[in-house]
Amino acid sequence: MLKGTFPIDKMKALETPFYYYDVNLLQKTLDVVKAEAGKYDYHIHYAVKANANPRVLSIIAANGLGADCVSGGEVQASLDAGFPAGKIVFAGVGKADWEINLGLDNDIFCFNVESVAELRIINELAALKGKVAQVALRVNPEVDAHTHAKITTGLKENKFGINLSQLNGVITELLAMQHVKLIGLHFHIGSQITDMSSFQDLAICANEIQEDLATLGVHLDNINFGGGLGIDYYHPNHLPIPSFDNYFAVIHKLLKVRPGQQIHFEPGRSIVGQCGNMISKVLYVKEGETKNFAILDAGFTELIRPAMYDSYHRMENITSEEEFEVYDVVGPICESSDVFGKDVELNKARRGDLIAFRSAGAYGEVMASQYNCRRLPKAYFSDQL
Ligand SMILES: *Cc1c(COP(=O)(O)O)cnc(C)c1O
Repeated sequence: MLKGTFPIDKMKALETPFYYYDVNLLQKTLDVVKAEAGKYDYHIHYAVKANANPRVLSIIAANGLGADCVSGGEVQASLDAGFPAGKIVFAGVGKADWEINLGLDNDIFCFNVESVAELRIINELAALKGKVAQVALRVNPEVDAHTHAKITTGLKENKFGINLSQLNGVITELLAMQHVKLIGLHFHIGSQITDMSSFQDLAICANEIQEDLATLGVHLDNINFGGGLGIDYYHPNHLPIPSFDNYFAVIHKLLKVRPGQQIHFEPGRSIVGQCGNMISKVLYVKEGETKNFAILDAGFTELIRPAMYDSYHRMENITSEEEFEVYDVVGPICESSDVFGKDVELNKARRGDLIAFRSAGAYGEVMASQYNCRRLPKAYFSDQL
């Protein structure tokens, strides 16, 4: 079985667990995104929440992408990493006053507004500064993303966005406000979406909404389709770069673009997911009555996706070529959910072996916690080891 390539001798000298980023793959992925988006003049805002490691952010900023933020902390991290304020968009259902003020003070490109209550506060805070905030309304398009329930965001029962039935009322109120300017519509239906029909539905929905709004005399300069493109967690070695070509082509084929209108996307996982790996060490192999456990020095404090979303990460014993054996791979945290995988095939594991968790660049390091008073994992980059 094909495994990833790692600088194993150097890794053996490092304290585990840690994150390891392949900067060549990140750059290649960015090159593909830029080329494919460039075909249609699409604007790309990297979703910072997927991975806010400062070096990762600065590489992405240096490639000319914008940033999609969901907190004031992310807005600040993006500015610090070199993203121009004019390319920062700011979404989130619960923006605090200081977060809105931070966006206003820096003249970010757009607030993606998720409720009329929020809109009123942005209008008030902008008025106090004598500014006009550019806003897009995040619409809940009622499109099923066909993904894990915890990462579906575009259904009526989700907390995100403004429901279609309430959109016209919100726009009427907005147009009467002095300190907000409606510049577009925003959508984001979920994450790890691999079924392109969800994006087809989204494009069709965007057309319908725009036609409805046109009858009210409302024309929008920007449409933002959010993020959500999935990656192949099962074949990180064969398919390291997601098919951005297909994704953008699906939208391009169906979307009716108005003259002068700009189309935006907010990919997170699809940009950084495959370039990151979480590296941990086998502490003990415990032979149970019915199964063997590989007990690692990493737990859900370093990589929470399996515990939180039942996610699969490919695991590889990168220091052994011995016969495969079957293990339940678990961490040291005192919670029974601290299990990375059951009945996992690994090359025979011994104390000290390094286990790589592939495809861990998105929602990995950024979700690490100090639960159990653990230390946060360090990060290393392929060009620095
Ligand atoms: C999470 C999120 C994204 C990125 O989603 P991915 O699945 O990582 O591409 C984009 N936009 C918004 C508003 C989000 O909340």
